[in-house]
Amino acid sequence: MPTLFKYESGIKFLSKPENLTLIADPTTTKAASNCDVAIITHSHTDHSIAFPNEGIKVYSTELASKLYESLTARKPKNTHFVDFNKKMNINDIEVKFIPAGHLLGAAQVILYFDDLTFCYTGDISTDKMLTVPKAEIPDDEIDILIIESTYGKADLMFDSRERINISILKWITDSLQSKKIPVINIGHLGGAQELIAFLNEMLSIDIYCDGRTSQINKIYKQEGIKLNWNSFDILNDTELKAENSVILLPRALKKPPEFLKSRKIARSIVTGQASRFAFSSFEQAFPFSMHANCNELLNHVKAINPKKVYTLYGFDSEFASVVRQKLKLFARPIKLSKEKPTLEEFL
Ligand SMILES: [Zn+2]
Ligand SMILES: [Zn+2]
Repeated sequence: MPTLFKYESGIKFLSKPENLTLIADPTTTKAASNCDVAIITHSHTDHSIAFPNEGIKVYSTELASKLYESLTARKPKNTHFVDFNKKMNINDIEVKFIPAGHLLGAAQVILYFDDLTFCYTGDISTDKMLTVPKAEIPDDEIDILIIESTYGKADLMFDSRERINISILKWITDSLQSKKIPVINIGHLGGAQELIAFLNEMLSIDIYCDGRTSQINKIYKQEGIKLNWNSFDILNDTELKAENSVILLPRALKKPPEFLKSRKIARSIVTGQASRFAFSSFEQAFPFSMHANCNELLNHVKAINPKKVYTLYGFDSEFASVVRQKLKLFARPIKLSKEKPTLEEFL
């Protein structure tokens, strides 16, 4: 019987003949507990819930585990580290991690079963950025590619990252000129570090972040990424210089912190979702994303040239149809996959 795989709160694989089950990026602890091994591609919490669970044997990069700990303040348990570009055996299944871009320590996973070679991308970015390399192309022949499709819809409006960065820069300098402190909501992990690195290069300005983002920044810094910032947890608000400071807030934080109450501020948000939504409570919304856009995803599929493509998350149906039309490859959302496994519905 061929290797079985399906989506069940994560991507579940069955290796024959031992009936070993492996799950990639489980989204519930229950799904992970039912498997022998879990692989975590990166530390964003929609991919990494299995880390702090003693009962689950987890494989990830060391950096993904460190970043998870600073992001959530929870300790990863029962975690085994995998180096990039080195084949290793995980419970008799040969596996290799290659860089995914997106975040430090983020991996695409290649699984070598006897009959099929899989590549599961996790979240990827294919542009070389200041804080992360671009997603690598596997040098193996891939039978089945399972690819994220967060922004896999052709008509989403993404400008080039350079141009978006320039508009953020312009908005910051305009705000400062009108004596307002620019306050930017942005993802703690990934987006914030990329923006800090860019602003450090372009402006001589004090950047303030919350404590958790500061912890993440420290890990980036240990990895050799040049970042300069201050933590506003230790900020005495008289220190804040209206003419020369920018504040970064966690993306979902609606109310600015107390120390900004008596200040004149201008607010913007940086998120890939700005390609879809207006974010009208902000003066500006910038669609900068650490995820590949539709065209970038398509180029990634093209370069890998797999036999079959399964899409996952976001615009999975839309992206599968783009792949079918443009690349003439078999493509469908893994969640809607009709190729149902047998073997008692795959254990
Ligand atoms: Zn992610
Ligand atoms: Zn994700």
